[in-house]
Amino acid sequence: MGSTACVVAGGGPAGMVLGLLLARSGVDVTVLEKYPDFLRDFRGDTVHASTLNLLDQLGLGDRFAALEQQRVRRLTMEFDDGVIGEDFSRLPGRHQHLALVPQWDFLNLLAEAAAESPHFHLKQNAEVDGLLRRDGRVCGVRYTDKDTGQAGEVSAPLVVAADGRHSTVRDLLGLRPRSFAAPHDCLYMRIPRLEGDPDGTFLRFSSSGGLIMINRGDYWQAALLIAKGTGRADDGEWARRTIARLAPYTSDRMAAIGARDIKVLEIRIDRLARWWAPGALLIGDAAHAMSPIAGVGINLAIQDAVAAARILVPSLRRGRVAERELARVQRRRHWPTLITQAGQRVAQERFVATGEDVPLRLPQPLRTLRHWRGFPHVLGRVVGLGIRPEYLTGSLEPLSHG
Ligand SMILES: Cc1cc2nc3c(=O)[nH]c(=O)nc-3n(C[C@H](O)[C@H](O)[C@H](O)COP(=O)(O)OP(=O)(O)OC[C@H]3O[C@@H](n4cnc5c(N)ncnc54)[C@H](O)[C@@H]3O)c2cc1C
Repeated sequence: MGSTACVVAGGGPAGMVLGLLLARSGVDVTVLEKYPDFLRDFRGDTVHASTLNLLDQLGLGDRFAALEQQRVRRLTMEFDDGVIGEDFSRLPGRHQHLALVPQWDFLNLLAEAAAESPHFHLKQNAEVDGLLRRDGRVCGVRYTDKDTGQAGEVSAPLVVAADGRHSTVRDLLGLRPRSFAAPHDCLYMRIPRLEGDPDGTFLRFSSSGGLIMINRGDYWQAALLIAKGTGRADDGEWARRTIARLAPYTSDRMAAIGARDIKVLEIRIDRLARWWAPGALLIGDAAHAMSPIAGVGINLAIQDAVAAARILVPSLRRGRVAERELARVQRRRHWPTLITQAGQRVAQERFVATGEDVPLRLPQPLRTLRHWRGFPHVLGRVVGLGIRPEYLTGSLEPLSHG
């Protein structure tokens, strides 16, 4: 059985950032990730200014800038009766854009940077499936090494669940999140991108669906937000027709997209009342599943990780984390999460497909606000920096040069 100062279940954005920060502050950390690599689609590609600033603080800004990416300074959301924009060009700090980077590149960068520290251990293809407990506290995890089929254990004074919206650790702790209505699901697919197609990334909202088209060079990563249940059971015809309507330049190639090329992703919004148990903390989607609306779930998860590292490093160095410290992490991150989810819930009711074939109009407040020149900048700030951006201060500050 291995032992470490902190074991993290899940190598997504929350888990990898936490692993990196702890390792750089000299805390031994083991991240267990159930897949053998980060090469999965439909994980979201958005890296906002708050995360770009964090990467700068970590000395990783240049490495991130070298990744193939799209920089978006202004995003336009088109409705049937007008457009509204998110403008990042007046954000404070070095980054006045949103970066779109395949998430596997981003996670690989974090893994490589973390691996430079002797305190960081990443075990891939290792699925957490049990908890170790002593005297009423969680004191480690059990996992299955999927390469060998062998069971393993890692003991640690703190287990962090960063294992996403279907969190196994959360289930093992007996914690149940409160679910909020999420009336949509998402269809994901790749569509060949040909000469003459538009540049950039765009969002189109209509009563037939909400379409996000991410330009990945020779293909579009298309995400179609649909009313739950719509277009699932058929052979993809509904989705093909809808996309061709919302992005007419794709109509010549949609016939080649088969039902098997279209993945249905469930969207959910939920939140735990308590993000911790003695010896365990939950962060990111494991504590609060985010909808893709506004593309902020990744950054929120990362900000949870930064707050957790900043608050917990001193205790982790001492080898014991008190419950009040875990509660502090939740207090710090609870209300930014609550406000962001509230925004997503309003948006999902108003913005995205009803499935009815009637024009989808801008909601009344936005119809008025879009005439105010500052509005796109306010939206850009809320989305780009988040409600409460986290920085590396206090116990983590020396890391910024590490
Ligand atoms: C369809 C869809 C599209 C989205 N698009 C965007 C977007 O564009 N931008 C954005 O910001 N947000 C987006 N989101 C939200 C975003 O995906 C999440 O908020 C974000 O990924 C949360 O990060 P995380 O690290 O907490 O969890 P995750 O990214 O879910 O990572 C969890 C990790 O844990 C691993 N894991 C799970 N169980 C175990 C286990 N038992 N043992 C070990 N490892 C385990 C998983 O393999 C995964 O690597 C989208 C969500 C959906 C549903």
